[in-house]
Amino acid sequence: MPSLPITRIETVGERTVAIEVETPADFEAYPGQFVLVRATVDGEEETGYYTISSPDVAGSFEMTVAVDPDGTLGPWLVERTLGEEITVEGPFGDIQYTGDSDAFVFARGPGIGPAVGIAERARQFGHDVTIVHGGPNPPHGKRLAMLEDRGATVIRSEDLGSTVESLALESAITYVFGFQEFVDETKEALTAVGVDLAAVEIESFGPA
Ligand SMILES: Cc1cc2nc3c(=O)[nH]c(=O)nc-3n(C[C@H](O)[C@H](O)[C@H](O)COP(=O)(O)OP(=O)(O)OC[C@H]3O[C@@H](n4cnc5c(N)ncnc54)[C@H](O)[C@@H]3O)c2cc1C
Repeated sequence: MPSLPITRIETVGERTVAIEVETPADFEAYPGQFVLVRATVDGEEETGYYTISSPDVAGSFEMTVAVDPDGTLGPWLVERTLGEEITVEGPFGDIQYTGDSDAFVFARGPGIGPAVGIAERARQFGHDVTIVHGGPNPPHGKRLAMLEDRGATVIRSEDLGSTVESLALESAITYVFGFQEFVDETKEALTAVGVDLAAVEIESFGPA
């Protein structure tokens, strides 16, 4: 269970914070994979999974954390300070974007974290990438604007059904990241246009 020093804490949207930690030795991971954060909060052991939101893990890597006042681990994490160490295990998960294909990434809430990590990596490797955010005001606005400058497409969708109809989804790998409600909405929209869900990389952040 390595303790990793925090190298950056940054508010990246409403109730959303990016936390970057130093990469431990022998840690290899790609955006789409996730880590387990373990902490003792008010005497209780708490754990939560956080998906990697940087394009790589060279030297450091980032997680994008939803901070809800009713949550436990998110509010604890946002109170940490630079240089403080947190316990991180992993990486876990079969979904990993290594940079070898074009990609569509559907995301909402903290799911926008892996979406920007994947998109940045895609552009680094010269691949087309489209991020579909399920709603109007995604976190990571600055990185999304930079991605658009670098040729990525970012769609802020109020209607996933009509958005999927406008995309040539058969031309790339499709990824979905977010809490279960968003995953269900996206699956329904994809199924309606004939996408085989077995070919879609889906990570649910869980029910409430
Ligand atoms: C594979 C995996 C990857 C994950 N990656 C991330 C990640 O990158 N970033 C991240 O923030 N969380 C992620 N999660 C979810 C996170 O691990 C849990 O929400 C964790 O318990 C957070 O602890 P908490 O005490 O702060 O908040 P919790 O008490 O668990 O929840 C507080 C807040 O989280 C959000 N939330 C929880 N459930 C839902 C829901 N069903 N719909 C909408 N919002 C919800 C809301 O803001 C909610 O109020 C992931 C979960 C899994 C299983």
